[in-house]
Amino acid sequence: MNDYDSKRILQLLDDDYARIDRPDLADLIIINTCSIREKAEHKLYSLAGRYKPLKRRNPALVIGIGGCVAQQEGRRLLKRMDYVDMVFGPQGLYRLPEMIKEAEEGRRSVFTGLSPDFRIPAIVAPLPEKNPVRAFVTIMQGCNNFCSYCVVPNVRGREISRPPEEIVREVEDAVRQGVREITLLGQNVNSYGRHDSRYPSFPELLDMVDAVRGLARLRFTTSHPKDLSDELIDRFGQLDSLCEHLHLPVQSGSTRILRQMNRRYSREDYLAKITRLREKCPEITLTTDIIAGFPGETESDFMETISLLERVRYDQIFAFKYSKRPGTRAVELDGHLPEEVKAARLAAILELQTEIGLSQYGKLEDRIEEVLVEEVADKNDRENVWLRGRTRGNHVVNFRGPAALRGMFVNVLVEKACNHSLSGRYLNVNEQDNVTNLSESGATSC
Ligand code: SAH
Ligand code: SF4
Repeated sequence: MNDYDSKRILQLLDDDYARIDRPDLADLIIINTCSIREKAEHKLYSLAGRYKPLKRRNPALVIGIGGCVAQQEGRRLLKRMDYVDMVFGPQGLYRLPEMIKEAEEGRRSVFTGLSPDFRIPAIVAPLPEKNPVRAFVTIMQGCNNFCSYCVVPNVRGREISRPPEEIVREVEDAVRQGVREITLLGQNVNSYGRHDSRYPSFPELLDMVDAVRGLARLRFTTSHPKDLSDELIDRFGQLDSLCEHLHLPVQSGSTRILRQMNRRYSREDYLAKITRLREKCPEITLTTDIIAGFPGETESDFMETISLLERVRYDQIFAFKYSKRPGTRAVELDGHLPEEVKAARLAAILELQTEIGLSQYGKLEDRIEEVLVEEVADKNDRENVWLRGRTRGNHVVNFRGPAALRGMFVNVLVEKACNHSLSGRYLNVNEQDNVTNLSESGATSC
């Protein structure tokens, strides 16, 4: 979501600014922040501190802080950092051109409004990357779920869906610019359209996006397990562009802890959905998020998370130590755990997952996978460079081949599974790209 917001900032400023990699030469620096965990918030303070001397050297430099920490802290950031000119929350980014003008006139400003009437504006400007291969499209903002640990509803406000025509237009526009893969974004995409009877449901929106000509791959994130409907599960395997991957955050394997988290599903509900998903789409890749050491988590609750990981066998997980967030209900709960207990549980989760992940990725060894090539690592040698792409199941694959393959679908023989990636040998361009005669080359390294 922050990545999407950063790209929109670049698009909004496209007429007046060019992007550079040297902060010491910049006229404008914007730090887009995340406050999901305390660690993310700390990153802001260390990064902003590095820009302080630049402002001393060049008083005309404009520095802005945007995103969720800006929303949470507002004016306090201006007080704490006298070299910062503007502070704006997620809805404020669309006011940036006015705020920059004010800063240039010597006025410092703060915008932390969160209006229920706010609508994400359509922006007509090229995507910021040259020859983009993948793009995000936000379909809704905010969240109404109030999971007891989570700061998102406070900093991004209530759920509002974007009109379907606007979403489809943004997808068509991205495809026109060369994008082959779209990820639809929302904090809980499954509740898309729920608040407006004129809107389609999320599965119906998927049908509309799948119909966009030239779109080869479609993904979405994030799905809340309580709202994952049978209708949505059935779309896997039905829609050509919908990739066989689902990120379904479970957070904990203990029903008791899930209740305390206000997740509104039980361990059994979650496992039943996994079973249905695998019945409907046996090749589906599953990934998840886990919180280790939530307040009141006993050793036996923790062991239920471990047993859930063993049972589901995700390809990848994102696991975090529970972090206290301001204004959330979990802060008030009894039984906050010492840092060492949280750290030890996180380490045990990650150790188990390393073993499971390797075995899951290992299943792809010796198979030929269709890979969409996203990145060229080495720009000097055009003929035999390291390339990086993804399978439909969202596995990252590294292999060597001509730089010209970027943006194409190619067949790669997977040779080796590593933790979180695969390496393989480039075979040929996939037929759907209608390009042939690119020579074979190979080397293996993760
Ligand atoms: N809307 C998404 C998740 C958004 S936040 C969903 O419901 O799944 C991404 C992940 O950050 C969450 O899934 C959760 O695992 C983690 N997270 C959120 N708040 C946290 C906190 N206070 N401490 C630790 N992890 C947290
Ligand atoms: Fe946070 Fe829960 Fe909303 Fe996800 S669904 S953003 S975890 S409140």
